[in-house]
Amino acid sequence: MARVNEPTVVVDPQVLAGLDNYVNLPAAQQPTWYSAEALAVAKAQISVLPPLVFAGEVDRLRDRLAQAASGNAFLLQGGDCAETFADATADRIRNRVKTLLQMAVVLMYGSSLPVIKMGRMAGQFAKPRSNNDETRDGVTLPAYRGDAVNGYDFTEASRRNDPARLVQAYHTSASTLNLVRAFTTGGFADLRSVHEWNRGFSENPANARYESLAKEIDRAIQFMAAAGADFEGLKTTEFYVSHEGLLFDYDRPLTRIDSRTGTPYVTSGHFIWIGERTRQLDGAHVDFLSKVRNPIGVKLGPTTQPQDVRDLIEKLDPNREPGRLTFITRMGASKIREEMPKLVEAVQGTGCTPLWITDPMHGNGITTKNGYKSRRFDDVMDEVRGFFEVHKAAGTFPGGIHIELTGDDVAECLGGSESIDEASLEERYESLCDPRLNHMQSLELSFLVSEMLSKR
Ligand code: PEP
Ligand code: MN
Repeated sequence: MARVNEPTVVVDPQVLAGLDNYVNLPAAQQPTWYSAEALAVAKAQISVLPPLVFAGEVDRLRDRLAQAASGNAFLLQGGDCAETFADATADRIRNRVKTLLQMAVVLMYGSSLPVIKMGRMAGQFAKPRSNNDETRDGVTLPAYRGDAVNGYDFTEASRRNDPARLVQAYHTSASTLNLVRAFTTGGFADLRSVHEWNRGFSENPANARYESLAKEIDRAIQFMAAAGADFEGLKTTEFYVSHEGLLFDYDRPLTRIDSRTGTPYVTSGHFIWIGERTRQLDGAHVDFLSKVRNPIGVKLGPTTQPQDVRDLIEKLDPNREPGRLTFITRMGASKIREEMPKLVEAVQGTGCTPLWITDPMHGNGITTKNGYKSRRFDDVMDEVRGFFEVHKAAGTFPGGIHIELTGDDVAECLGGSESIDEASLEERYESLCDPRLNHMQSLELSFLVSEMLSKR
């Protein structure tokens, strides 16, 4: 992308035409904005705002993901189902980063693998919906599509699909990312503070287990210090941000041409994934993301066919570039052992080594008797276990996990060592979208996954 004080790169018109070919294709899940004029204004504003991430970082992530694809690293991707403007506060962002750092330490300690840390953060503001509209008590309004599109309150004013929100999504992402960068490079992520990340949380088995692990890490560090080791590498950590590439009106104006190579990068996030509802092969999302250099993820649900996997590889990774393509399976605990082997097999002979990661959240949704969208912790863990089993049998690598989580003490998913029950949902359910693992459930999951990784 053009850097400050650098001459603007001359852009190959063919590259731009390729990039915009998506406008000729069906684009699922796009909002109907209330005003074309307001949309043009928002897009013009976004297109001249600075990139949020940089091409060099994106390239480095691609290398890291290639390591995970070949079994030499593990990807931890997590965050809210939908970020909100209201929750982009210092405390909440810090809690999420802290939770991811803690989980990464647990995973790294158990597996002796480098863990790639990635938030569903700083851009996860748009949601696909089953219906365009929502009706309550005879009143029909546009469905809530995430804060980048409209508000959650069920009023006409709030539900209006307002393009000015795209600009607010950009600014909220910028301030979130600024804090994330400060936390992860300014001393907060120093491995010598593993204890500090855990302060302020109640007594709990996962908590106690984390404390004893942190003590072991401290002892190892003291030992290394006594032996004269240098700790530069422990002071900061790489942290990447990702979101579902859903809204063309946001991601396209933030797509910039890299001044070094003349190639396009989506600069609204390091890693962009295509959702289960927008991965049509001849659709706009796959076409657009096939033209950019970022590493791309694709969600694969239980109806995915082997040929879909091969076609996606052809379209998104024609050059068979390590780290370029990640398949995020979200089958459901009851289906993964049956549906996934044929997909893993389909890759053989294509020359592609995709990174396989598990999203054990989206195939395990339930509605509780008292009317909450929830997930059972045991189902989540069972899907992760199935994912490891399938890879073991196929001789491939279970390369990462994709989790909806929060650093806060909410009650949205059932079970875990605190035995969250249906009644607790009535007190501490905060998500505007899908239910997230809370801080303790996230920690507990990472201990269980680290055991699986150590036996892999
Ligand atoms: C999500 O990740 O929040 C989501 C909508 O997932 P999927 O595309 O897998 O349904
Ligand atoms: Mn979700």
